[in-house]
Amino acid sequence: MENNLRSRTNKVKIKDKILGGSNQVLIQTMSKTKTSLIDENIALCDDLYKRGCDLLRLSVLDEEDAKALSYIVDQSKMPIIADIHFSKNLAIKAIESGVAKIRINPGNMKKDDLKEVIHVAKIYNVAIRIGINSGCLDTYREKDPKAMNSYFSLLDQTINIFKENDYDQNLVLALKSTDPELTYNLYRSAANIYKYPLHLGVTETGYGIMGMARTCSALVPLLKEGIGNTIRITLTDSPQEEVEACKSLLTSLGLRNEFPTLISCPTCGRTKVDVSLLVRKVQDLIAHTRGDFKVAIMGCPVNGPGEAKNADIGLAGLNDSFMIFEKGEKGPILKEEEAFTYLKKKIAILSKRSHIVK
Ligand code: SF4
Repeated sequence: MENNLRSRTNKVKIKDKILGGSNQVLIQTMSKTKTSLIDENIALCDDLYKRGCDLLRLSVLDEEDAKALSYIVDQSKMPIIADIHFSKNLAIKAIESGVAKIRINPGNMKKDDLKEVIHVAKIYNVAIRIGINSGCLDTYREKDPKAMNSYFSLLDQTINIFKENDYDQNLVLALKSTDPELTYNLYRSAANIYKYPLHLGVTETGYGIMGMARTCSALVPLLKEGIGNTIRITLTDSPQEEVEACKSLLTSLGLRNEFPTLISCPTCGRTKVDVSLLVRKVQDLIAHTRGDFKVAIMGCPVNGPGEAKNADIGLAGLNDSFMIFEKGEKGPILKEEEAFTYLKKKIAILSKRSHIVK
């Protein structure tokens, strides 16, 4: 029954991606560079696309940003989403510039303005996300038992405007809070009430590992219950980190299978090789690689070989070298400096084979 919650949602076309229904959970992030800096944003699009990001959102703060959108849309291999607050004119310009979707915050757009935006979105057949965050609700208090009501009251009012204007088939919803538990409860209720696809996220989670942990405490149970059609892991960090976090989460839950898995041991007093250096180099390498395979980098010959043998390619550290295992079979012993070059070649082969299988 739970998986039906995801698959029973409407299918919304976002350029060449389909959001909703039984389609795969899409990965998205947001540029942290002003949209008017066109070249920087085009380079970012390119890098994120190669990493496996599906959707990129850009803020539209002023006329310069709105003008820049069409150039970025033209160059991007990924669908671009425009993020608009307050201004109907910027929302309309963003739609006219060819973005695949816009995100509006109903807490700061007047009803009549929203109607005009819907009218233009209809002409261009552009999807709209209603994104409600705790920060945009005047009446919201995190631990207030009525907090959920504030969200659903604003959401229902906004959905009604879309329905009255016969344009709710291209809607996507987000109900984010800084509180992971409230976020979980909001999405769980929304998944049971509406058929609109859900964009999952916890808002303003913090930096790096801390933000990832707070996000996962809400997103893991939701995704396991079959809720959510796209995710963003919001971090005080680069968009690349956000995308890597999404890839890792969805791969761990078995919801995506085209990204390699890298496992490594925490190291301990037995370690005599630089595991951390090699792991960072391999992580950078596989960030742009596709394939359903596993690489294991372990620090010692005591516990290392067991895990290394279970991977498609595994390493177990010795004194200043690594024992290599390929699909469980013992391979060469290589000095630390040679191990990365060897891994690079093997990862290229595994990636190609993975693509042939698909
Ligand atoms: S694999 Fe070896 S080096 Fe790594 S944590 Fe375990 S015992 Fe320590």
